[in-house]
Amino acid sequence: MSLMAVSEALHRLLASASAEPLPETETLKLEAALGRVLARPVRSAYDVPPWDNSAMDGYALHTDDMEMATAQGLPVSQRITAGMAPEPLARGTCARIFTGAPVPAGANSVEMQENVHIDDQGLAHFAKALNPGQNIRPQGQDIRAGHILLEPGLRLKPQDLGIIASVGLDTVEVTRALRVAVLSTGDELVEPGQPLGPGQIFNSNRFTLIGCLQRLGHQVIDAGILADEPEATRTRLQTLAGRADVIITSGGVSVGEADYLGQTLREHGELDMWKLAIKPGKPFTLARFAGTPVLGLPGNPAAVLVTFLLLVRPYLLRRLGVHEVEPVKLEVPAGFEWPRAGNREEYLRARLEQGRVMLTGNQSSGVLSTASLANGLACIQAGKTLAEGDQVLFLSFAGLFD
Ligand code: AMP
Ligand code: MG
Repeated sequence: MSLMAVSEALHRLLASASAEPLPETETLKLEAALGRVLARPVRSAYDVPPWDNSAMDGYALHTDDMEMATAQGLPVSQRITAGMAPEPLARGTCARIFTGAPVPAGANSVEMQENVHIDDQGLAHFAKALNPGQNIRPQGQDIRAGHILLEPGLRLKPQDLGIIASVGLDTVEVTRALRVAVLSTGDELVEPGQPLGPGQIFNSNRFTLIGCLQRLGHQVIDAGILADEPEATRTRLQTLAGRADVIITSGGVSVGEADYLGQTLREHGELDMWKLAIKPGKPFTLARFAGTPVLGLPGNPAAVLVTFLLLVRPYLLRRLGVHEVEPVKLEVPAGFEWPRAGNREEYLRARLEQGRVMLTGNQSSGVLSTASLANGLACIQAGKTLAEGDQVLFLSFAGLFD
């Protein structure tokens, strides 16, 4: 069977996510909305700034008085600090003004204090002439009343919350977090904290997956371990399908005889098993069971991490209505060589350090320690080799975990 390209798999996943109904919305206080996805456009009821204000500590005047201001000086008729409502400026005078304070009616420019000298009589002498509007931040410069500030489908960053607050809103309507069930399959698995019996390994995928989901702000349904047994697989999937918006599994989707998850999905659900041209992560599976999407990840711990970040993360974001779901890829010089071309797109655990990408060590799909040492993934396209110093694509964990 030929392998499906990662780009094609992602395309299908995103199409499948877009076809699902969006979760209902909820209204949150701004304090609780970081990282959530905007469900309605945000419109401003105010101009920002709400009035002309000074960009400097200095002196406000009307430019018609400029000649007098530079020749014999102007009396200072008022002092305006931020938070005050000033009197209109009397013609032939200037006003002491501070950054962020409202420019009084009758003034049309501000000179910075470094260019103004106050003499013994208290007259303000301006060193040079100014243009109208100089050093004034005009009303509505940032945002106009009635305009849409932010569109639905945006994951709220700190500065987005700042903008919403700047127009006086204290709540925002977002899509409800997804309920994501995490199920680890395998008779060999035992939870950490338990003694390790013969033939057993500790369940690490559960923690990797739950951690990834928590960073994305999803609501996790921790479904623990599932034995390699067809009946148990069917009943567990049935229960979870009724509770979760999506089920994420690890293990059991290869073609081995004990891979009951794949079998159960094929016999009792709808299985779309692809065989992806990705390394690690070839057995990644999309399926549906009792109406609920199932994303079947391989069992190998490094494959879990890679397929989550490259395929599951964009899928989940799209389920929430997010437009921009693909990670930023940087082109950076490689500090390593890759002499043998592979037939799959390969994601290597790597570090970006001093402008070069270095591999962190063993790239076997069962090895997780090199993922811990990594700060991102280097991507090598199928059929490509690399000499040291060639450009390589790098995906930073900084952009993948949030
Ligand atoms: P499978 O896809 O079920 O054949 O699993 C592939 C490999 O991943 C096997 O070596 C499993 O023991 C290992 N594995 C599966 N699930 C987990 C897990 N939850 N934690 C750590 N290793 C796992
Ligand atoms: Mg297994």
